[in-house]
Amino acid sequence: MSTRIDLHAHSTASDGTLTPAELVRAAADAGLDVLAITDHDTTAGWEPAVRALPPGLRLVRGAELSCRWYGEEPAVPLHLLAYLFDPDHPDLVAELARVRLAREERGERIVRLLQADGIEVSWSEILAGAGGGTVGRPHIAQALIRAGLVATTTEAFGPDWLGERYRLPKEDIEVFDAVRLVLAAGGVPVFAHPRATRRGRIVPDELIADLAAAGLMGLEADHEDHSPAERAHVRALAAELGLLVTGSSDFHGSHKTVRLGAFTTDVEAYERIAAAGVTAVASG
Ligand code: AMP
Ligand code: ZN
Ligand code: FE
Ligand code: FE
Repeated sequence: MSTRIDLHAHSTASDGTLTPAELVRAAADAGLDVLAITDHDTTAGWEPAVRALPPGLRLVRGAELSCRWYGEEPAVPLHLLAYLFDPDHPDLVAELARVRLAREERGERIVRLLQADGIEVSWSEILAGAGGGTVGRPHIAQALIRAGLVATTTEAFGPDWLGERYRLPKEDIEVFDAVRLVLAAGGVPVFAHPRATRRGRIVPDELIADLAAAGLMGLEADHEDHSPAERAHVRALAAELGLLVTGSSDFHGSHKTVRLGAFTTDVEAYERIAAAGVTAVASG
């Protein structure tokens, strides 16, 4: 059987619903050989995931960095996956802490907007729901569900709620700074779901070429938010720019419907990532 590699998954260290320990066990149960833990703007899940690593499963330690490109007005948000970097690199640690704090402030401001419209959601309850992990809109979505205002997370991300009306920008990392930081920390930067038009605005291919010149190493092609045409486009662009290509589930537990291993990465691309990172792949 071929090696099954899923390089993008979230735990309760950010907006997933499985703890890091539950996540690695679920990955083994799903028949994966390699899993990357990539919580938003944090490495807090790394240790508990490694401690719980089941025999035979390899763990790529990573994160998904909240970034922004300021080449257009308003600036375009984007996500950068970073693999196998030094989690103690001071500049990266400081930047991730800044972004996490800004997420809390933004979450609280979203809650104030909801409350100003008479919607009864509690910031302290939402913060408690995040359990000390990186706060995101999915945690606010859960509060809307608990209040009976929406039925699903998808509905909470609709235009009447967190998708538009009550959406506020985050204070993200400038994307070229993010690539430089990840490289300085010995990591491997890969652009997450770069053509996900269904999430909102996307960046032009010229920017991706500039990022490649700055050291970006790969593009995530196979992702549920990409149509087949978008996946093909990303593959062609990667070939043109000499970038590696990944495929991943972006698993979030019950906050999303996608299952672990729904999309996977070729072993050649995985081996290039494993060889390029300063942190070793952990083995169970
Ligand atoms: P935030 O990071 O706070 O801006 O929230 C964005 C996160 O919410 C993304 O990383 C996704 O994991 C999740 N998300 C975005 N859109 C949806 C959606 N339509 N349904 C469920 N989760 C979503
Ligand atoms: Zn998320
Ligand atoms: Fe993402
Ligand atoms: Fe993600």
